[in-house]
Amino acid sequence: MKGILESTSHGLYCVPGDFHIDPHLPVKRAVVTHAHSDHARWGCKKYLATQSCERLLRLRMSPDAEFRFFPYGETLIVNGVRISFHPAGHILGSAQIRLEYGGHVVLITGDYKLGSDPTCASWEPIRCHSMISESTFGLPIYRWPSQEAVFDSINRWWRECRDEGKCCLLYGYAIGKSQRLLAGLDPSIGKIYCHGAVEKGNDAYRLSGVTLPETTYVGSIRQKYDWRGSLVVAVPSVHGTPWVKKFGRCSTAMASGWMAVRGTRRRRSVDRGFVLSDHVDWPSLLQAIEACTPETVWLTHGYTAPVARYLIENGRDAKVLDLRGRNEGDEDATDEDIEQTTGEIPTT
Ligand SMILES: [Zn+2]
Ligand SMILES: [Zn+2]
Repeated sequence: MKGILESTSHGLYCVPGDFHIDPHLPVKRAVVTHAHSDHARWGCKKYLATQSCERLLRLRMSPDAEFRFFPYGETLIVNGVRISFHPAGHILGSAQIRLEYGGHVVLITGDYKLGSDPTCASWEPIRCHSMISESTFGLPIYRWPSQEAVFDSINRWWRECRDEGKCCLLYGYAIGKSQRLLAGLDPSIGKIYCHGAVEKGNDAYRLSGVTLPETTYVGSIRQKYDWRGSLVVAVPSVHGTPWVKKFGRCSTAMASGWMAVRGTRRRRSVDRGFVLSDHVDWPSLLQAIEACTPETVWLTHGYTAPVARYLIENGRDAKVLDLRGRNEGDEDATDEDIEQTTGEIPTT
């Protein structure tokens, strides 16, 4: 990437700017795409991120870390490198990072998705010479249904469970996925409760100006309670633990891009699977690359080699970007991973 970026043991490093992007180990200066723990690592000295990321980042980081927040689209020059953040459409405050140095533009997409999401700013195409894109769901089998259809089926499931006198347990990642789920629920069906980690995320979203339906923290209900007809949004890690016993007769469901694969739902032993992802699917990955017109695409996460091969066969220069220093088990551990727990956020 014309001497602008290199892959180091701590993650992507901007050589002339002397800063890391989404480092996987603590560094002096970290420019972060968003607040998920696989991107914004604990323990860096200084963080640079978008303004709308502030509440979520402060929720997770040490109070003595130094932060600098920037609005989308504004340019900051560090050692001659022009840095700007642009909406990634992934979660609240998520950004693509544009770096310009010596006339060469590099775009780091971070996690991103196309299309609208009422809980965050929509992805914008940025023209660049080099594009570093994630490819978590980079296979043609991954095609997301319309989110209207997904929310219709989630609300239908809730209504049916209510009529059968059951409680609904809906699992999603605490930050981002849960709030997107909440924004799509029909609160006229019943009351909505949230797991502690989800409720903390809700607070950060509301304080950032995102409208969510009314929710109640599960832990605030002390006495014996009738949960029939309610919907509880919780992190996947509580599935099958004593925490869920109190809800009585339940129907369980998971919302994740992985639900597009037959068999995943059964393996996770949930009753329903809803295909809802905050990452690009196959068609939108190709659409994003077209729109950003890169000379070279660098692929990280997931199906890097098959995507690179496909792009090359279709006349585009593409390479796999080997992010050195990522831990073994980390390789596929995106926020979309249904195994992932809640990071540093207390889970009670
Ligand atoms: Zn993420
Ligand atoms: Zn991620």
